[in-house]
Amino acid sequence: MSIGILGGGQLGYMLALAGYPLGLRFRFLDPSPEAPVGRIAPRVTGDFSDRAALEKFAHGLEVVTYEFENVPVDAVHFLAKKVCVFPPPGALEAAQDRLREKQLFEKLGIATTEFASVPAASDLELALRKLGLPAVLKTRRMGYDGKGQWILRTPEEVKIAKEGLPRLPFTAERFVPFTRELSVIAVRGKSGETAFYPLVENHHRNGILRLSLAPAQGVSPEIQKAAEDAARKVLETLNYVGVLAIEFFECDGRLLANEMAPRVHNSGHWTIEGAVTSQFENHLRAICGLPLGSTTAVGASAMINLIGEVPESAQVLAIPSAHLHLYGKEPRPGRKLGHVTLRAPSFELLVNRFASLPAFFQRPEFCLDGASRRNAAPRA
Ligand code: AMP
Repeated sequence: MSIGILGGGQLGYMLALAGYPLGLRFRFLDPSPEAPVGRIAPRVTGDFSDRAALEKFAHGLEVVTYEFENVPVDAVHFLAKKVCVFPPPGALEAAQDRLREKQLFEKLGIATTEFASVPAASDLELALRKLGLPAVLKTRRMGYDGKGQWILRTPEEVKIAKEGLPRLPFTAERFVPFTRELSVIAVRGKSGETAFYPLVENHHRNGILRLSLAPAQGVSPEIQKAAEDAARKVLETLNYVGVLAIEFFECDGRLLANEMAPRVHNSGHWTIEGAVTSQFENHLRAICGLPLGSTTAVGASAMINLIGEVPESAQVLAIPSAHLHLYGKEPRPGRKLGHVTLRAPSFELLVNRFASLPAFFQRPEFCLDGASRRNAAPRA
């Protein structure tokens, strides 16, 4: 079976690596001639809005998916006339726009952060009258890894932010003093079968994911069920096929949905070694109409993102049960270059192994204090 993937970054790379043992073939479309997937699969280099490139990419494919949710929806509609596209374009439309995403959560009865639409900078004060301060202002589109966000704590900060804001539509949200951040990775097959991985605890710094712990500790069956119910509602409403991630804030013992990603997700990388079936394999199984694999965790895992710099490979590989993934990207500050997954039979043993990691990993953001109390301020 030939699968086309829109976007040629590390998520596409790991999808292909999971698909080769299943006998699947891949072709990628990415605007950059340096996209990491070029090393492992044929790639069409072209803009997502370039119809000739889309035609060339789609030729002979049986299914198309995406690893990047900012693919233009028009391109996906164009492809959907020629070949099956999963997850459905409606999921992409909802996830690309923070306002539509929040409205979808609200419509489905999924508790979310209190929000208001800010069509232009001049509407900011009105929105903040409803929400109060502190608040978080986010561009409606193209925000990721904390980019396009401003945290507003005082009327002075509101005034300064307003003067410097780009001419774009925004959403404003009440700032949530969360205890920790959790995410659920869910998957739905073509037959409507669903499966959910255990909740993951995520630690961010400057809006970028640094560390995921899986399964998250201290999660009651009710909280796990609330996350699964929320994901199931989204999956069924959108007639979704593939992997979906929803990120939550845990606050006063309940979950508030922050955002969703209609694709495999960074907080699911631990599943490669830490679950019976990885999120990548399950996404492929789903879009190919195959039975889903078990989402059960095998022991406890910590996934550490390598941002901007990577340690010596030999240093990582000398750690018992450490797995190194390098994405083949040129180092640049703030860039996700790879990840390390550390596994142990139990969370207690994982904590012990963590304590003996080499100096590269001895940083405050990798502190396993059980709950992320560093309510890191997003940055613009
Ligand atoms: P996002 O791009 O929405 O995932 O935001 C990036 C990070 O900023 C989140 O993972 C949180 O750490 C933080 N953040 C975003 N929205 C809020 C909020 N309403 N209250 C508190 N922190 C937030």
